[in-house]
Amino acid sequence: MRLTPEPVTLNLRTAFRIAHGVSHQRFNVFAHLDDGGQHVGIGEGAVVPYYGDTQQGLMDYIAAAADRMGADPFVIEDILDRLPPGPQAAKAAIDIALHDLVGQRLGQPLYRLFGVNPHRLPLTSFTIAMDEPAIMAQRAAESDLPIIKIKLGSDQDEAMVAAIRGVTSARLRVDANAGWTREQAAQLIPRLKQYDIEFIEQPLAADDVEGLRWLKRQNLGVPIFADESIKTSRDIAQHADAIDGVVIKLMKTGGLREALRAIHSARAHGLQIMLSCMVETSVGVTAAAHLAPLCDYADLDGPLLIANDPYRGVRFEGAQLILPDGPGLGVIPA
Ligand code: MG
Repeated sequence: MRLTPEPVTLNLRTAFRIAHGVSHQRFNVFAHLDDGGQHVGIGEGAVVPYYGDTQQGLMDYIAAAADRMGADPFVIEDILDRLPPGPQAAKAAIDIALHDLVGQRLGQPLYRLFGVNPHRLPLTSFTIAMDEPAIMAQRAAESDLPIIKIKLGSDQDEAMVAAIRGVTSARLRVDANAGWTREQAAQLIPRLKQYDIEFIEQPLAADDVEGLRWLKRQNLGVPIFADESIKTSRDIAQHADAIDGVVIKLMKTGGLREALRAIHSARAHGLQIMLSCMVETSVGVTAAAHLAPLCDYADLDGPLLIANDPYRGVRFEGAQLILPDGPGLGVIPA
């Protein structure tokens, strides 16, 4: 099999400002896996700046992994085991391309290979990045979607949530992206609760598991989900008594295979699950969407943030995700 990386520059519809920084463009990588017959699988790796990844780093990793693919895409576990340490997003690109290729060879969409019901996807949230509260409220009013995720971690957090709540009765979730100290979180969360918040993502620093545990003991009345704290299934057990739910992303787990393990591990620990994405095209997000029926919540609006998505896959009817029926991922060039 021949594995080839391809760089892609994504133009964002609006500047994306979160607690980690601001961006107008993102630089992702596609992996194309050609079986030498009539099938080519595709995968995507999203460059996540705050993990220290670069587009060139992902390109180099995929190029270097090309001679480890072998001839048989069906031994996915073996192939992934042969991959050297490196960026999770690059591994995800390879893992997704393998699954796409296998699905195409079998003539079945991935959701059938996973044994899940394609009509049971949770509604997705729509992310509103940080801006002036009035501008965020305007975006919320225009979006007309039933679930909004608000990016926080500024000195105007309560004003942002209040402004948005003032214009919508949508379900609201907030994501602090590790932007608060323990004291800020303990003070802010009860204040945010009055705006009817469904849950809070990653209030504290990624490595502050003790802080999460302390926060849970405060009984603040809003469920806490861990995102940056949990990358793979290995991280779940030690957080299980400190949080209410986990945020799973293919770019953290390194693909579908490990995402499935993380989902099962979270369930075994009695945790809720939100399936989420980075800034990803229809390739990465469609891959994730095939696992969405196994999760409680979806945050898969990546393609809606991008003005020049080169592919089409999962469709959005408002907040409802519609999986494509084609074999493998089911994505096609836009
Ligand atoms: Mg998050």
